[in-house]
Amino acid sequence: MKYPSLKNYIDGKFIDGGEKRIDVISPIDGSIISTVPISGTDAVNRAVTAAQKAFPAWSAKPIKERSQIFYKYKSLLEKNINDLAELIHEENGKTISESIAEIEKSIEVTEFACSLEQLAAGEVMEVSKGVECRAERFPVGVVACITPFNFPNMVPNWTIPNALVLGNCMILKPSELVPISANRIADLLKEAGLPDGVFNVVHGAKDVVEAICDHPGIQAVSFVGSTKVAKIVYTRSTSNLKRALTLGGAKNHLIVLPDANVAMTASNVAASMSGCAGQRCMAASAMVAVGSVDNIINQLVEEAKKIIPGKNLGAVISKQAKERIENYITEAEKEGAKILLDGRNCKVHGKENGFYVGPTVIDHVKPEMRIAKEEVFGPVLAIIRTDTIDQALSIQQSSLYGNAASVFTQSGGMARYISERASAGMIGVNIGVPVPREPFSFGGWNESKFGTCDITGKSSIEFWTKLKKTTVKWNPESQINWMS
Ligand code: NAD
Repeated sequence: MKYPSLKNYIDGKFIDGGEKRIDVISPIDGSIISTVPISGTDAVNRAVTAAQKAFPAWSAKPIKERSQIFYKYKSLLEKNINDLAELIHEENGKTISESIAEIEKSIEVTEFACSLEQLAAGEVMEVSKGVECRAERFPVGVVACITPFNFPNMVPNWTIPNALVLGNCMILKPSELVPISANRIADLLKEAGLPDGVFNVVHGAKDVVEAICDHPGIQAVSFVGSTKVAKIVYTRSTSNLKRALTLGGAKNHLIVLPDANVAMTASNVAASMSGCAGQRCMAASAMVAVGSVDNIINQLVEEAKKIIPGKNLGAVISKQAKERIENYITEAEKEGAKILLDGRNCKVHGKENGFYVGPTVIDHVKPEMRIAKEEVFGPVLAIIRTDTIDQALSIQQSSLYGNAASVFTQSGGMARYISERASAGMIGVNIGVPVPREPFSFGGWNESKFGTCDITGKSSIEFWTKLKKTTVKWNPESQINWMS
């Protein structure tokens, strides 16, 4: 095995996570690269105890002092970017350049966390003569963060820097499919000077997640993953009276109008559907082609042909994922859709045991087909033809999900018409992957997100803090009741 067997990280130490373990399999060649413990309630209890012990001292530090540790952490991410990217490539399967881009985003969110001292300052106002009201933010307490397989470094970092700079202590439960990056994050936080117990990692699966949702010592839970599990975690955490913010799956529509710039649209759509092998919650999954756009579709297929598995296209996460994606393609074909580019049965020379699916473009998909409605999570684009913009909008609006939607056009008026009406939290105009960059917040609508705040940017301040309102009277000479 390339990496030693993993341990949990609790109270600043790597400790045994129990006897139950599973293999960590690299999607690029199917080899076993490590093993990960599948811990249970005991490990969660220990981590909560460690976090509770660390909380009083950590939360009492001024925010400026806490953020100093994250300036160092940011430098460590920069210094180690190539090693961290190599690790993501091996455990997740995405390409090295995509892995580097992932760390660059972790750096950007850490940079934002270092600016929280400017953004999270309280407010004070004299509300009556000699009487002031002050609003200050306090950390929520011990919090947990549960993450998916598709961004082993970035998604944990969506929450770690912000939650910790704001004074919380955290337990991270990473995906058991990509657990190695989580332990590297723990190493770097320790090296940056984070006190023991402020950040802990408990490896595992369903049992750990359920123990997190149920533990009375955890005040807030953030989750990123599939909608099915997002619903379970939201319901279970909130029924235990915790705050919860759970991000789910996606089915993102790109609406392409006949006046769109051909080269820009084709290259953006191809990059959006195939980046990270289509395993992004912001990936283009359905292109809604309005009217006559055959020239754009032809160019898009040419662009997609340049995306070569094992070179500029990574692997999908597992053998099961490859089978699931290929089944969607086969089913669409059987139902009468036309496959313009077929990524099934793809083999990469020298990586025959890897889990690769080539870029796939399917035309004449009907809105009622499964491939038009469900999350495929692979490098597959379903093209749905419509005659009018309103028909295109109604297809987008009827999706269960609502993470991202984009429009490609050269008309400002049409772009505005569609972006106002699309039912999604993140909208792109001539942008294939409309991820809002800091200080803007990341979060979708509908069944792509449960809970009121967003997970990054300014909106996350609300989730990771509670507001204290203090009213003070400093004029004893005045006897009147200030409310009167
Ligand atoms: P997943 O839901 O299978 O797993 C996410 C986490 O939940 C993991 O840590 C896993 O161990 C845990 N888990 C799995 N099954 C569970 C169960 N029954 N009970 C309790 N916990 C359980 O998701 P995944 O396959 O790792 O990630 C892919 C999904 O994540 C896609 O649907 C993708 O769209 C979504 N995603 C969404 C966003 C977003 O911002 N909305 C971002 C990234 C990924």
